[in-house]
Amino acid sequence: MPITETDEEPRVAYKHPMPVEALPEIVVPDALSEGDDRLWVPQAKNVYFRPLCLNVSQGYWMNLLKVTKSGVLSRHRHPNAVHGFVLKGRWHYLEHDWVAEQGSYVYEPPGETHTLVVPDDVDEMITYFQVNGVMYYVDPDGNHLGYEDVFTKIEMCKKHFEKVGLGADYVKQFIR
Ligand code: FE
Repeated sequence: MPITETDEEPRVAYKHPMPVEALPEIVVPDALSEGDDRLWVPQAKNVYFRPLCLNVSQGYWMNLLKVTKSGVLSRHRHPNAVHGFVLKGRWHYLEHDWVAEQGSYVYEPPGETHTLVVPDDVDEMITYFQVNGVMYYVDPDGNHLGYEDVFTKIEMCKKHFEKVGLGADYVKQFIR
């Protein structure tokens, strides 16, 4: 609905409670900071993710993906769309000519199969990804090798946070 009335009090806060069914917000201050390495969950050699929102009711996860020198995010297919924004460094897919540089936004359509590679002259890349549904890992012919979804991500977080002394429950703050 278009706004038809003038707001006479533009800087006055909304006066009522949020809907009782609404979930609490998540705020991750300084999410890019690498001060505490324990917040980065290892997922493969030279590949880490930092959970921001793990959404179990809609089946998606928002995370920062970090790939250090010569890292590869294994070949996978997306049945659902992915949105990415490159915060640091540079990467490309073996399947496409374009390069995602710092400041780039990337939309990955459903049906995409690709392999994310960080070139040797980049020490580290960090990209903010919204991944919906599942990452379906495949061989070069598309045969199934494994998968990840929001629930396997949560399990990885629990194991890692437990191991580094934060406790498995540390992940709960990111779950909605
Ligand atoms: Fe992908």
